Amino acid sequence: MSGTNIILEKVSLVIIGGGPAGLAAALEAKRRGLSDILLIERDQQLGGILNQCIHTGFGLHYFGEELSGPEYADRFSLAFTTAGIACLLETHVLEITPDRILTVISPQGIRQIAAGAVILAMGCRERPRGALGIPGTRCAGILTAGLAQRLLNLQGLMPGHSVVILGSGDIGLIMARRLTLEGAKVEAVVELMPYSSGLTRNVVQCLQDYEIPLLLSHTVVETHGRERLTGVTIAPVHPQSQKPDLAQARFIACDTLLLSVGLIPENELSLGAGVVLDPATRGPRVDQSLGTSQPGIFACGNVLHVHDLVDDVSREAEQAARSAVAFLNETDSPGRPCEPSSLLPVLAGPGIRSVVPQLIARDRTPETIRLAFRPARVYRAASICLRDSQGQLVLKSRRRILTPGEESRLEIPAGHWPAVTAGHWQLSIEE
Ligand SMILES: Cc1cc2nc3c(=O)[nH]c(=O)nc-3n(C[C@H](O)[C@H](O)[C@H](O)COP(=O)(O)OP(=O)(O)OC[C@H]3O[C@@H](n4cnc5c(N)ncnc54)[C@H](O)[C@@H]3O)c2cc1C
Repeated sequence: MSGTNIILEKVSLVIIGGGPAGLAAALEAKRRGLSDILLIERDQQLGGILNQCIHTGFGLHYFGEELSGPEYADRFSLAFTTAGIACLLETHVLEITPDRILTVISPQGIRQIAAGAVILAMGCRERPRGALGIPGTRCAGILTAGLAQRLLNLQGLMPGHSVVILGSGDIGLIMARRLTLEGAKVEAVVELMPYSSGLTRNVVQCLQDYEIPLLLSHTVVETHGRERLTGVTIAPVHPQSQKPDLAQARFIACDTLLLSVGLIPENELSLGAGVVLDPATRGPRVDQSLGTSQPGIFACGNVLHVHDLVDDVSREAEQAARSAVAFLNETDSPGRPCEPSSLLPVLAGPGIRSVVPQLIARDRTPETIRLAFRPARVYRAASICLRDSQGQLVLKSRRRILTPGEESRLEIPAGHWPAVTAGHWQLSIEE
């Protein structure tokens, strides 16, 4: 976007998003001695999605305490304000160019900012109903679990009284409990896969403790109702083909269907900046510095890959900030594109759905690398194996249980730094 009357300001580091990722990144950059930082948030307040997560379960790893979402966010917001870091609220970043010119809009108008480095921390969004294609009418009473959470927790509006939840992601599980506590009857949580896609602790604490049925290997095949939802038809699915068995379909009367069917990184700005995305995570493809394919553009938090725990988001954001500061100081070369020969791809092999980082830049200072990965299915007593292109074992770690609902990690100590100059590493699960 261009305009003769738009002033171009210059800022060393711009962070997009004032959720836990953006806040932790800003604070770490400040701790590293950078003063020229600007955080941009489209909402009226800082804290991101945590503001609507009034349940506890946040901060066990980072603070060693069990906090609610707003409490966790407040700790960072307070530190952020005390540190005197510049911030624009109610300001939406519309576009980033590959050379880091941002176009932003706010009630004050449009402005452009030239950034020395950018940290993407825009979070993720929920997969909507349209992405599922369930047959039926487009009546009221069908909404995503996150929207229902926002209505209930921030606006005091009850989304419905008899509820079916499609998908057993964490937001759906949390909302099953929340709606029950508010007096609704949650008829069932219906999950396509033969396992829950949420954390085990949420299945226990949000469903089992309240005797809410979890119907695995089931799906909603039709919605009913004209003005308002009157019920849904559900059916079991074949475990392999996932085709519904309509002969066993049954009707459940309900006035609300909540969708908790996955999260997608907010990737429009990344795409506009020419950042290469990973087809599995749908977030930017990064190396261990969390640098994207565009020099000086880093990513962290749910915009990079969907996290289960906010504690991991905060730690990852701190890493992105350290890399951005090093890029600005030119003390190392994170965030600068490497020669292809110095980039070692880390591939998701058998049993692995996605892995982050997807690249290891060999020309960086060796340090411990934490690979975050999601298993493709449930494994018990299995090994995570990292092998080189010749199939030689680099690292192996035994795990009691691995499930797609829980992102796992494998630490590669600096001593295992790739010696080879070609090929790839492959992460797989071996039984
Ligand atoms: C319902 C729910 C329950 C959860 N429960 C737990 C739990 O019990 N324990 C736990 O540890 N974790 C939990 N999590 C996970 C944790 O809350 C998230 O991992 C974390 O909030 C992600 O942080 P983020 O900063 O990446 O994204 P967000 O919190 O989504 O923040 C992103 C920010 O970027 C802003 N933004 C986006 N685009 C733009 C733009 N173009 N311009 C300006 N600003 C922009 C958004 O407004 C938002 O404020 C839960 C998450 C959800 C959704």
